[in-house]
Amino acid sequence: MATERTFSIIKPDATARNLTGKIAAKLEDAGLRIVASKRVHWNEAQAKKFYEVHAERPFYNDLVSFMTSGPIVLQVLEGENAIAKNREVMGATNPEEAAAGTIRKEFAENIERNSVHGSDSAENAQIEIDLNFTADEIVG
Ligand code: ATP
Ligand code: MG
Repeated sequence: MATERTFSIIKPDATARNLTGKIAAKLEDAGLRIVASKRVHWNEAQAKKFYEVHAERPFYNDLVSFMTSGPIVLQVLEGENAIAKNREVMGATNPEEAAAGTIRKEFAENIERNSVHGSDSAENAQIEIDLNFTADEIVG
């Protein structure tokens, strides 16, 4: 298995409820190493750019409003199979469908306010990392 990097966001619903440490612990317990981390507050242009793949979806404007509604924590996670492992520990997009023990099952409020983002492919992980971090901000 290859060591990979993936991109993660702790979303505004989770920072509002002071859950950043509990979520980071779940990621670390799953064997993922947080090799970069910063807390930011996106403006509309930043959220629109990040989620532009969803621009045609009916939930796009609400998603942009939500992601700019409060602080978020951007992270790069490293580990064996990091992309799939992160998706596994996150759980299904809709918390009602998420497996027991996953971040979304334990913490998400609903399908939109679902506490975390994780890259869905190696290609998107690289794009999302490059969009949010400079090389010197990632320390493995
Ligand atoms: P993410 O990309 O955040 O890791 P995901 O890959 O599980 O989540 P996507 O289909 O990429 O889900 O949707 C991106 C985000 O848009 C979701 O995490 C959620 O916040 C929001 N979203 C997705 N589907 C809906 C929906 N039907 N209604 C409202 N918001 C939604
Ligand atoms: Mg996605």
